[in-house]
Amino acid sequence: MAGLLLDHIYKIYPSGVQAVTDFTLDIQDKEFIVFVGPSGCGKSTTLRMIAGLEEITDGDLVIDGRKVNLIQPKDRDIAMVFQNYALYPHMTVYDNMAFSLKLRKFPRAEIDARVKEAARILGLETYLNRKPKALSGGQRQRVALGRAIVREPKVFLLDEPLSNLDAKLRGQMRTEITKLHHRLATTFIYVTHDQVEAMTMGTRIVVMKDGFIQQVDAPQKLYDYPANIFVAGFIGTPQMNFFDAVITGTKANPCVEFEGQKLAISKETTARFACLEEYLNTGKPVVLGVRPEDFHDEVEFIEKSKKSVINVRVDVLEKLGAESLLYCAFGELQEDGDQIASLTETATQLIAKIDARSATQAHTMVDLAIDMNHIHLFDKETELSILEGEGTKAYVPVVELERQAKRAEEERILAEQKAAKLAAKQAAKEAKAAAKLAKAEATANEEVVEENADSEN
Ligand code: ADP
Repeated sequence: MAGLLLDHIYKIYPSGVQAVTDFTLDIQDKEFIVFVGPSGCGKSTTLRMIAGLEEITDGDLVIDGRKVNLIQPKDRDIAMVFQNYALYPHMTVYDNMAFSLKLRKFPRAEIDARVKEAARILGLETYLNRKPKALSGGQRQRVALGRAIVREPKVFLLDEPLSNLDAKLRGQMRTEITKLHHRLATTFIYVTHDQVEAMTMGTRIVVMKDGFIQQVDAPQKLYDYPANIFVAGFIGTPQMNFFDAVITGTKANPCVEFEGQKLAISKETTARFACLEEYLNTGKPVVLGVRPEDFHDEVEFIEKSKKSVINVRVDVLEKLGAESLLYCAFGELQEDGDQIASLTETATQLIAKIDARSATQAHTMVDLAIDMNHIHLFDKETELSILEGEGTKAYVPVVELERQAKRAEEERILAEQKAAKLAAKQAAKEAKAAAKLAKAEATANEEVVEENADSEN
């Protein structure tokens, strides 16, 4: 059991790739932390630095109060489970699990007790004498977990451990790993590109992009209060709908205007504005975000929300059983009469998730009300949320702010350099003109002197 501190960690590979930038995170003992983000965002690199398999370029890694940057992987009291299981094919399940303990010269009885306990926890008791090739994918992954469990590590690191399993088995193993975490009551750090795994397993999720932390939060908070457009789009399926918009109206009753629509922002959302004045009637572009489930076609909801209704054309209706997805168009619809989407049409698209029992049909015009208590608003330029989450601003990632400050500083320096260059050019021009003038004056003087001399003679 252990807490970890990753303190301003950087990773620059010898090739020059900056895989991780300023990664700072305090992980409490017994947390289940998930690193999530698209491929190549630096998740595995960060995990491998914690494991000691990758050198840390800069920053401190502290486990249980001890700086471990230079400590060998085997001495870090950490166990790692990989995506490809990495089992020894010639050894039985028992020997695969016992191997690392044998290497560490544990007494035979202790090894036997630990392997049997791990097999019991993982339901592998009847497979102990089998070789890996006689096991299913899920069973092999359980052996890989068992190999980590027997070591009783302070920290479990799991690198996309379920990626090689089919969808059903993945769902099953997901709950098994969550149960295992409760049972072992130790710190888990789990890497995945799958946001469903992140949402269902993590006590806290770290969303990464391009080597930067975007946001760290509990799953539901991440969903309800995404700090920027990237997090908003990454978490949630189908993805959040985004529309270019501006804020108009009054301070007490602001509206959001987009695609010819003007919707009143609810009191609750208005109270969450970090700086309404910056956007109110200034024309400063914002991005309105609406999750598919925050569109409603129920008559009662529409009746209650008259100021936030848009009229859309349903192009495709997907019935998923528990719910239905509407693929809609609105705004500049082509009037070809048959209400079937043309491929060249430029109307704005949106996806709505509605009740499966709704009577809404495809190829019809319908009213959808937006739940204005759950809209999201972002600054179009910085892509940061302009609404505060639960009355706090703390969820805005520091690195993002630092990056903005750095960008502003770079722009300031560039502007200064440009101004200095312009000033130098102007000064040179003036000097040239002055020299020309001086020369002309000198010539004129000489002529006057000569003329005077002539007249005296
Ligand atoms: P993820 O796990 O999020 O998919 P990685 O941590 O594997 O991402 O990679 C982050 C970035 O570092 C990527 O751009 C990747 O190409 C690069 N990278 C990973 N390993 C190496 C390496 N050994 N040498 C150079 N670049 C690497």
